[in-house]
Amino acid sequence: MKKLIFLIPFLLFAYKVDIKKWDKHYTFYQFLKDYKLPLKIYYNLNTKVKREVRHIPAGTLYFILKDNNNFKQALIPLNSKNQLQIIKKNNNYIAKIVPIIYDTTQKKASITIHKYLSYDIYKATGSNLLTRKLINIFSDKINFKTIPKNTKINIIYEEKSRFGQVKDIKILFASIQNRFYHYMAFLNPKDGRYYDEHAKSLKGMFLTTPVRYKRISSRFGLRFHPILHKWRMHDGIDYVNRIGTPVHAVADGKIIYKGWMKGYGRVVKIKHKNGYITLYAHLHGWPRGIYNGKWVKQGQTIGYLGNSGLSTGPHLHFGVMHYGKWINPTKIRKSSKITLWGKARREYFSYIKKFIKDNNIALK
Ligand SMILES: [Zn+2]
Repeated sequence: MKKLIFLIPFLLFAYKVDIKKWDKHYTFYQFLKDYKLPLKIYYNLNTKVKREVRHIPAGTLYFILKDNNNFKQALIPLNSKNQLQIIKKNNNYIAKIVPIIYDTTQKKASITIHKYLSYDIYKATGSNLLTRKLINIFSDKINFKTIPKNTKINIIYEEKSRFGQVKDIKILFASIQNRFYHYMAFLNPKDGRYYDEHAKSLKGMFLTTPVRYKRISSRFGLRFHPILHKWRMHDGIDYVNRIGTPVHAVADGKIIYKGWMKGYGRVVKIKHKNGYITLYAHLHGWPRGIYNGKWVKQGQTIGYLGNSGLSTGPHLHFGVMHYGKWINPTKIRKSSKITLWGKARREYFSYIKKFIKDNNIALK
């Protein structure tokens, strides 16, 4: 096992801290054996945690505290939020779930596009994740495939790390400027969405499409049904792609149905604001944590493209209902930008005013 030993002098007297990497074939059972810990630690865990300790991802960094080479404590991350803490007290062992503490650092980057976006951002920041997050924020505004040379990009972001490993990045502000346009995006801490300097959201209420696709095999309207052999109203759009392609919620909302629905096969149905419901059908399956009553965010993966139900080949049937009536999904696409009003608008403006001042942001 690789051993990364960090000595944290101000913390340590006779204590020694090891930070180790969970190897690919390492098991929780082996871990207990290696530290001469009793098996009952495992047996006393609840079912959910038992499952988690059996699936600790390779590469997970865990922490062992020793006192004169005697085991004192272990911290093993189980997911992005929680870790298992095992403490030795006298001759007893206490195992409990505690939150993971991350280091958060605010960083700034000023980038000029010389080659291409991901290259120049990586060169300036060492991060690929930053490029993906930036593209996601401005995807309704900018075609990043044709971004002009000498475009200036400013980003202020928060980096969440643990033992020096970057775990997540949150962009707080970004601006993209060239001779054609100048866009700004501020993260509104109240709702987690990005708005411009006029409190208008950068993205519409809906994503343009719920899935990456190779082609559209059937549009909204009347069509001759290939399986039923009759003329029928096709009340959605069919997107063709490979089985397993992730399907995303097009807007924030609440799952009102997840399960089998006759000809539609495996589906997810989501209720959104302003009388909208979206339907994702013929799914192959669902990711973990997708269930009736669950609130989902725009862009979240809610299923995988499949061929279930009455279907002629792998595709996603995507339907949009507005106040009880199926409507053409293309009609909702770029419309419905969200503008903050009232209290939310006042709070947003007072937040960005301070943010602009604190960070010396040059306005347009
Ligand atoms: Zn369809």
